[in-house]
Amino acid sequence: VDEEEAALARMLAAYRGVWVFIEQTEGEPAKVSWELLGVGGELARSLGTELCAVVIGRDVEHLCRESFAYGATKAYLLDQEVFLHYRTEPYLEACCYLIGKYKPEIILMGATGMGRDLAGAVATRVKTGLTADCTGLDVDDKRNLKQTRPAFGGNIMATIMCDRFRPQMATVRPHVMKMPERIEGATGEIVREQCAINEADILTKVLEIIRDKKGDHVDLAGAEFIVSGGRGMMAPENFSILKELADELGGVVGASRSAVDAGWMPHERQVGQTGKTVRPKIYIACGISGAIQHLVGMQDSDVVIAINRDKDAPIFQVATYGIVGDLFQIVPAITQRIREL
Ligand code: FAD
Repeated sequence: VDEEEAALARMLAAYRGVWVFIEQTEGEPAKVSWELLGVGGELARSLGTELCAVVIGRDVEHLCRESFAYGATKAYLLDQEVFLHYRTEPYLEACCYLIGKYKPEIILMGATGMGRDLAGAVATRVKTGLTADCTGLDVDDKRNLKQTRPAFGGNIMATIMCDRFRPQMATVRPHVMKMPERIEGATGEIVREQCAINEADILTKVLEIIRDKKGDHVDLAGAEFIVSGGRGMMAPENFSILKELADELGGVVGASRSAVDAGWMPHERQVGQTGKTVRPKIYIACGISGAIQHLVGMQDSDVVIAINRDKDAPIFQVATYGIVGDLFQIVPAITQRIREL
């Protein structure tokens, strides 16, 4: 048993460095990557190790420099034609190649479509654990990553550790972590690598890229002002009063799951555990009770204004300002007042 423990300790000690996968599409970075460099930097400082960016793509060297501006001191760069568009197989090979060669202690990826796909595949291949959708990350004195995430439908917060395997892997949703400060002109080391992957061996081919129709897309997660409606809106046409207020503020309309399930709003507008995580300057919750699954998606907003006719509604516990009353009177009155300013 002692020998086993000693072997485990040697294995754990062989892994060093906090890595962040820099997600990009056609060279355009996903903002969550910078948010992860922010939290990754804190972890690296606690562990006394380096913060590294993993940049995979085609013509993506600029993302290494951008990573340095957000705190990375090293970037592993795999710049090859085969990585032009995201596909699981070549990106998986690339990540596993780097992990095998450099042995990182921690790997962070965005809980986006791409990150969720890749992280699961990598964790399976390198036989380690993966905690999805973390809302908090910290390390203990044994260098274990303490990964906090909601569990049991958001009713408890679980802290998950992967103490006998390396690397330790986690995904984090966009907007959960704060954006780090951008330091202009920061430099670091670019480690250029080549991965032997043959296009002919890859089963998935990208035939065509069909973009979302412009105008259909709402950037809820990136909005500075959000006016959200819940079951208290009573009918889909009533959302027009929220739209008017949102337009005055230069913001967008969000919704609770009840409103989405009722078919009053599309799913892309849903805020919460199974919707988007938002962090606007002002979040106005109208006719939303404040179930935990909704709160986890919006409670980090700078200012929360809750309008609800039930003075005991849980939403008031996270509200900066609470207005007890009928939203059908209050919302138009606020809109009117803003117009008069
Ligand atoms: P209700 O809880 O019915 O609240 C309606 C509120 O409107 C009440 O507080 C009422 O007092 C108020 N009201 C009514 N009329 C008026 C009026 N005229 N003026 C002012 N106030 C009024 N929910 C989410 O939102 N997002 C999620 O991502 C999500 N994910 C979930 C995941 C799981 C696994 C589970 C189990 C649940 C999830 N839910 C989620 C559902 C969540 O538990 C709640 O059921 C939901 O958030 C309730 O929506 P609501 O607040 O709009 O409705």
